[in-house]
Amino acid sequence: MMSSSFDTKVVHQKLNQKQVQNSKNTPIYQSTAFTFEDLDHLESYYEGDVPYLYSRERNPNTDELSQTIAALEEAEAGVATSSGMSAILAGILAVASPGDHIVAADDVYGGTHKLLNAELDTFGIEVTMVSFRDLENVQQAIKENTMLLYTESVSNPFLRVENVEGLVQLAKDHGLATMVDNTFATPYLLQPVLKGVDLVVHSATKYIGGHSDVTSGVLVGKENLIQKATQKVVTLGANLSPFEAWLTQRGAKTLGLRMKQQSGNAKALASALEENDLVQQVYYPKFVSERGNGAIVTIELGQQVNVETFFKSLGWVKIAPTLAGVETTVSYPIRTSHRALSDAQREQIGINSRVIRLSIGIEETNDIIQQFEEALKQSSE
Ligand code: PLP
Repeated sequence: MMSSSFDTKVVHQKLNQKQVQNSKNTPIYQSTAFTFEDLDHLESYYEGDVPYLYSRERNPNTDELSQTIAALEEAEAGVATSSGMSAILAGILAVASPGDHIVAADDVYGGTHKLLNAELDTFGIEVTMVSFRDLENVQQAIKENTMLLYTESVSNPFLRVENVEGLVQLAKDHGLATMVDNTFATPYLLQPVLKGVDLVVHSATKYIGGHSDVTSGVLVGKENLIQKATQKVVTLGANLSPFEAWLTQRGAKTLGLRMKQQSGNAKALASALEENDLVQQVYYPKFVSERGNGAIVTIELGQQVNVETFFKSLGWVKIAPTLAGVETTVSYPIRTSHRALSDAQREQIGINSRVIRLSIGIEETNDIIQQFEEALKQSSE
């Protein structure tokens, strides 16, 4: 019988969940743990008959997200994590142990560069970074203890499209695993698993979430590797919260629509900027997939453009140290994503003070083109 005292009543008032109809959307299971009717019921969790115990280990919302992305990537399994960075770490730790070595592309995202160069040695993992433009370089960097080849399907910010098939073949020849960051391409454009990649990672903060309102990551791939990665996520506490998983999943529902519109806009803008004398160089991939070439355009401003004035002349296009939202934004790699790199490292990959990364949104195509043309005109000296 329920006590009539205030302090007991207030914490025990609950909806009878068995009487709730199926809701159209998955509810947010904002709960750190799940309750059990009796000890047999508790035991059934450990026997694998009941899925949930404690949300750091597993939660319906994080399951829904990881299963969605695994399905879109045609992967066997997935795990959702607190950020793209933790998804990358979990994936690497699923493959490499102390004493092992990995070979990574030297043009990966700045944060990944830092993780590989400044943190992995504390896990006893050695990293060699080389240009993946030529597979010969990669082959030469492989050693006896190499376990993994790591790269991005489309690189940041110069949008180099990786030769995934070649890399997978090389990895197979040497018995190595492959891991690809597919953040820029998204599974709408590319599914590296179908080309034989073992692990695919996403900063779901970007296109999968799509609205710049959630930080999350997803790792998908071979079941045995995802099981290992999940153990790392659980032990390191790198799990995603239920609410953020729910938000990411909600955003993912429109991934196809957004990528279609954003890629189309980016293609049109890249063509317009190619024709503009105030732009020294336009970086936009020639071919990512039949569905399009992605929604990022990187430019190098011409010498006659004042960089400070350009940033001030962009009107409704805001400066944001991220990408992939529904709004068009610009970022300045030398001061943000690639800030932590040394001058020599930046020079090696071509980042200088005139390089600007444009993340193209879903706005009307001509409005976007006009806004950039106007900003270029206003900032030319
Ligand atoms: N991978 C790529 C290609 C990125 O651009 C980023 C972030 O910008 C990350 C990984 C890291 O993701 P997060 O910020 O969600 O940790």
